[in-house]
Amino acid sequence: MVMTNFKKNDTFEAEVIDLTHEGQGVVKIDQFPFFVDNALPGEQIKMRVLKVGKSYGFGRVDEFLKQSPSRVTSLNLDYLRTGIADFGHLIYPEQLKFKHQQVVELLYKTAHKPNYPVLPVLGATETLRYRNKAQVPVQMVEGQLTTGFYRKHSHQLVSVEDFYIQHPEIDAVILSLRNALRTVHVKAYDEQTRRGWLRHIVVRRGYHTGEMMVTLVATSAQLPQGVDTVLEQLKENFPNIKSIQLNINKSTGSFILGKTFKVLYGKNYIQDTMLGKTFQISAPAFYQVNTAQAERLYQTAYDFANLSQEDIIVDAYSGIGTIGLDLADRVAQVYGMEVIPQAVEDAQHNAKLNHIENAHYEVGTAEAIMPQWLQKGIKPDVIFVDPPRKGLDEQFIKAATATNPRTIVYVSCNPATFARDVLRFEAENYTLDKVQPVDLFPQTHHIELVASFIRN
Ligand code: SAH
Repeated sequence: MVMTNFKKNDTFEAEVIDLTHEGQGVVKIDQFPFFVDNALPGEQIKMRVLKVGKSYGFGRVDEFLKQSPSRVTSLNLDYLRTGIADFGHLIYPEQLKFKHQQVVELLYKTAHKPNYPVLPVLGATETLRYRNKAQVPVQMVEGQLTTGFYRKHSHQLVSVEDFYIQHPEIDAVILSLRNALRTVHVKAYDEQTRRGWLRHIVVRRGYHTGEMMVTLVATSAQLPQGVDTVLEQLKENFPNIKSIQLNINKSTGSFILGKTFKVLYGKNYIQDTMLGKTFQISAPAFYQVNTAQAERLYQTAYDFANLSQEDIIVDAYSGIGTIGLDLADRVAQVYGMEVIPQAVEDAQHNAKLNHIENAHYEVGTAEAIMPQWLQKGIKPDVIFVDPPRKGLDEQFIKAATATNPRTIVYVSCNPATFARDVLRFEAENYTLDKVQPVDLFPQTHHIELVASFIRN
């Protein structure tokens, strides 16, 4: 172990030698690493020590002695401080290179595949204002209801009006709502005193349809005085708003949404289209936040599957059915499972909406349902999986591979758990065939990819 005598506020001149996967610059002083916000590889900085731990520390840039040619100098630093755009200071082509390299490294370190030929990242054409969803915390700041984003690793609110990567109409709705709620003196929830009403504003907007859903997350079903008039006004100003909902969250935890939703205006869902099919999306259901890039992601997934009209496919972690329904016309049967009941209802409804009769959905966890399907003798030719960040469950992998599909197509939003699962599939006689990252999250550290495994 390296012994250190570093103290807070010490300063050093140093070169930034690396970038962490979350976008912090890495500086080493006598072998001891410091993580530094807003510092890019190749930059020469005067670093001030903020904090020293046992094996690493944190520093900040006091002064740039030399800046990287890959730096975006015009970035408002609040986007880095809040993590809204934690790679926003790096030019876009370099973001894509970095993401590619991350996937290559994880496949090497975790899945023992040196120099795996990961395909070049499919970059976005819209690298700003692409998000179709916002979840914005609300706090009282200097006595005023304020919307914005938390500083990284804290619940300290930074006021933000232009969210940079969200669709501008979403920003406009949030701003208009904030201003109107100020005039009727609505109080934001305070985590310390546990007083106040409004916790979050969630807005979703269909990329192709423009339909919007606004959800107020609050501590009680009782609307404070004036809120009904505010909402009346809001839907008049934004005729694209098709749904306004109240979500009740009385908890002290950090989950944004509570269990109960109440429709205040319109429907309990909005619609959007993906690859020409129509989808209803209800408030608790997952929907990819970057529609244009998600369409390319799904298209790649279908290309990897080499489908034929006789194929039976499984769409595991199916959400509202986007992956399976977009290709239902091209195969014999689609079986999907998903843990959120409202999302499964959406998927069933979406099948009808698109006149699809060969898609079947069940509510439950993939790890519980896949073994049941194996028992029932369902024999898929291709299994699509699209799990959350924690990746796949071993139980699921065992049951899925036991059904003996020709191909498994894995859509992953976390290359670290994906790389772990590569080893598990290999243990069941499936070989990794292709890995294609698709950039769904420009300006941020998040990485999405689609991969295929072929039966040995
Ligand atoms: N394929 C969909 C959804 C992907 S997101 C799309 O592209 O839109 C991952 C989904 O998995 C979410 O809908 C989440 O609710 C669901 N999920 C999370 N854990 C699960 C589990 N153990 N079993 C089944 N579904 C799960």
